[in-house]
Amino acid sequence: MLKGKKILVTGGSRGIGTAIVRRAMQEGADVAFTYLHSMDEAHLLASELSASYSSQRCLSIECDVTDMQAMETAVKNLISEFGAIDGLVNNAGITRDVVFARMSRAQWDGVLNTNLGSVYNATKPLILQMVKQRGGSIVNITSVAAIYGNNGQTNYSASKAGIIGFTKSLSAEVSPQNIRVNAVAPGYINTDMLGVLDPDTLAYIKSRISMRRLGNVDDIAPMVCFLLSDNAGYITGQIIQIDGGITL
Ligand code: NAP
Repeated sequence: MLKGKKILVTGGSRGIGTAIVRRAMQEGADVAFTYLHSMDEAHLLASELSASYSSQRCLSIECDVTDMQAMETAVKNLISEFGAIDGLVNNAGITRDVVFARMSRAQWDGVLNTNLGSVYNATKPLILQMVKQRGGSIVNITSVAAIYGNNGQTNYSASKAGIIGFTKSLSAEVSPQNIRVNAVAPGYINTDMLGVLDPDTLAYIKSRISMRRLGNVDDIAPMVCFLLSDNAGYITGQIIQIDGGITL
């Protein structure tokens, strides 16, 4: 589905990002992904996938997505390395959950800068290249928390709701240039991000999901790869919820 495509994924060293990297390689793409802290995991992933798919490339790039200059350099270098970037997945994200009354400015800024600021930082240096190429696909990872809200997540929900507005507005701007911009809104997916939740909270969450289970990273990656592919050539400005039928 992605044969010959060049894809950049932010935050590919763990969780959903890793599943997207794996799936995009499986679908035939050359893939580069960024990481920040998880260097060993990132290097291992890139070397494992490069060995498994010897005619494709898988590159890990150490880059803090909140650092505009570093991101700009990474994107520029990747364009010269790959010759083009056909797809971008804005996936890197964090949580700093706490009720708003107790939320520090640092907790607010940290989440907004990482989750929403990174979308600017990664997309801005790439968009003119995609215009020049007269094509591209951008997939932003938002969350059901942007749609329903969630206790203790005013910072996170605001950052993810910002991504939805960004997705719809940018898609309107760049559709004439054959650039598609969509978002995927996962529900509760079993990754390190849920590690902060205690067993009672997890049980409560499962009881609110129609399918009565958490999602897996492989529930998300195929949809992201579909949206990156030409099979989704007439889909833009959409927010696809993948949440097992959540009723928060
Ligand atoms: P995760 O397992 O915690 O992984 C987060 C990834 O983001 C890691 O690869 C991490 O890299 C990277 N990252 C974080 N801050 C970064 C920074 N400043 N610069 C570069 N990379 C950075 O999280 P996940 O569950 O896979 O989440 C992936 C995306 O899905 C996030 O946007 C999240 O908000 C969204 N989402 C997740 C869920 C869920 O239930 N899991 C639900 C809805 C939406 P390092 O480890 O290398 O630092």
